[in-house]
Amino acid sequence: MDSLWRDDAAEAVVADYAHGGVGRDLALRVYATRLLGDDARLVLHGGGNSSLKTTERDTLGDEVAVLRVKGSGRDMARIEPSGLPALRLETLCRAEALAVLSDEDMVSFLRGALLDADAPDPSVETLLHAFLPDSFIDHTHAEAILALTDQADGEALCREALGERVAIVPYARSGLALAKAAARVYGAHPGIEGLVLSRHGIFTFADTARESYERMIALVSLAERRLAEGRKSVFAAGALPSAIATQSEVAPILRGLVAQPVDRADGAWRRAILDFRADEAIRRYVDGAELASYARRGVATPDHAIRTKNLPLILPSPAAGALDAFKTAARDAVAAYGRDYDAYFERHDNAFDGTRSKLDAMPRVVLVPGLGLFGLGASRSEAAITADIALSNIAVIADAEAIGDYAPASEAEIFEIEYWSLEQAKLDRRAEPPLARQVALITGGGGGIGAATARLFAAEGAAVAVLDRDGPLAEAVASEIGAEAMALTCDVTDPAAVEAAFEAVVGTFGGVDIVVSNAGAAWQGKIGEVSDDALRASFELNFFAHQTVARNAVGIMTAQGTGGVLLFNASKQAVNPGADFGPYGLPKAATLFLSRQYALDYGDRGIRSNAVNADRVNTGIFAGGLLEARAAARGLSTEEYLRTGNLLGREVKAEDVAQAFLSLALAEKTTAAVLTVDGGNIAAALR
Ligand code: ZN
Repeated sequence: MDSLWRDDAAEAVVADYAHGGVGRDLALRVYATRLLGDDARLVLHGGGNSSLKTTERDTLGDEVAVLRVKGSGRDMARIEPSGLPALRLETLCRAEALAVLSDEDMVSFLRGALLDADAPDPSVETLLHAFLPDSFIDHTHAEAILALTDQADGEALCREALGERVAIVPYARSGLALAKAAARVYGAHPGIEGLVLSRHGIFTFADTARESYERMIALVSLAERRLAEGRKSVFAAGALPSAIATQSEVAPILRGLVAQPVDRADGAWRRAILDFRADEAIRRYVDGAELASYARRGVATPDHAIRTKNLPLILPSPAAGALDAFKTAARDAVAAYGRDYDAYFERHDNAFDGTRSKLDAMPRVVLVPGLGLFGLGASRSEAAITADIALSNIAVIADAEAIGDYAPASEAEIFEIEYWSLEQAKLDRRAEPPLARQVALITGGGGGIGAATARLFAAEGAAVAVLDRDGPLAEAVASEIGAEAMALTCDVTDPAAVEAAFEAVVGTFGGVDIVVSNAGAAWQGKIGEVSDDALRASFELNFFAHQTVARNAVGIMTAQGTGGVLLFNASKQAVNPGADFGPYGLPKAATLFLSRQYALDYGDRGIRSNAVNADRVNTGIFAGGLLEARAAARGLSTEEYLRTGNLLGREVKAEDVAQAFLSLALAEKTTAAVLTVDGGNIAAALR
């Protein structure tokens, strides 16, 4: 591992922040923290922390000694000075005299020491930073260090690899006791450059940002060098079926099995978004004959358990063409995982005070021999974080097993972290948006109603697949939404393209729960004169494409077994034909019927089917200036035409139609419905 410190880059950061009144030391603290955060072998997603001891003026103008320490859960790679809140150092140091300090009291105490009461919560390792004297301190969960310390003889291995440059602090959960222990060990070993925290990670320290950072790199490099010596081969392959089912066959089954009914009678499910990973290292790990041994010893550093739980779910290998047998065996494995989790909770909750509230028993990491690894989360980004951490654990376990026997923190120690009162408090506060954990696929999502629906569904927590014939349009909408969206170029009149799109969505999110079949276009012509070609083309897009999309959707929803909803964009033409609009209205009428047919045929699987009947929405669906022409024929502007055509005199916007789709997506007991969004058009009112 090489030092990435560059003086010119560091000075650029210093110069940059100088304009905002940020001092040199704090700017360098930010620079070095980002360098560490950028390397996944050192820290992942909010793990690790860093600090600086300096002086600052408080509100009264008094110069006080402060500790600048990373805010709890902040990402080191993207840290800003504001992510390193300042605390009164003298106050913090007085805590060393305390015999005990509960978690809640510690948080309150730390907040009380902040210079700015609005600053983020300081790291739970703040006291450790405060009790050590050095100006710059860095802390990571470096994989190479974990591979050495997560061993029965981890202390001896660390000593052998890192020598006198470090001292070792026995395992303890972060808090006052660990901080005091670290300070004691530090005091007893003058001249050390770092502290290895057993089964947790490593601290380095120095007078300058650069030296502390480079000590981290140097010590981790020594650990890496030790790991390269005397390796035995690991993860000998186990027996696998000759042909394995595909990820897109397995993911919906898995997704359904791990989903938990919120209320079975209400049809609401607590689902997960799945992030699938498979590369050579992952496959060697999950395909190993001894997987059930090395994968079930626990996480590499306790912090990871909050994201991944201590143990993964291990599924049987899915043989191609035998999905029913896989589903049965997988269901048993999920049930056993739940029973084991409950037992783990009972065992350790009693050992504490018996007052913890049990978390859900849904696994966070699922290993499938022959296939790969799934990370589970409430959103795509959360699932990706889980998968990243699982990958990091695989790297640590591979190295640990290569030089010895992987032996991380004990189950009791992990329970203490997973059910830490501070973590429990955080969970209590976390309310999820209504579409969290659901995957929505939207056709014609590149503009108008489709884009408005994609934006709204994402804002309500869904992972969103934006499909459009025009790829760049879909891309623009998805990139505007951000990490929770994907874009796909898809002509919905091409059945193969639709199938491929669904497969891609399952590949990215693990399944599909909501489908908004929205793509459409208006053909016109007097019905006795219109060409068959035009009529058939309209039927392809305005009827058959809806059928293709719906058929693919119910296949995946059936595999999941957790219901789902189909939402069709019908049109007022479906119930109230407009003059010369036969080519548009006829297939739309068939699509309205299609929606009802799906409601009838798939209701027993919990799959709902509803339609939105919108009118005069200015979305570009009326190609070739049709809307403008119709308005002009009445001597009106387009806007006036849109507004004056309805009872309320209000223009119906794409966002209004999106709201109607959302209402229908959330209405767990509504199926075969048509929701009208037209500002009032009595001729199109359904009866
Ligand atoms: Zn840590």
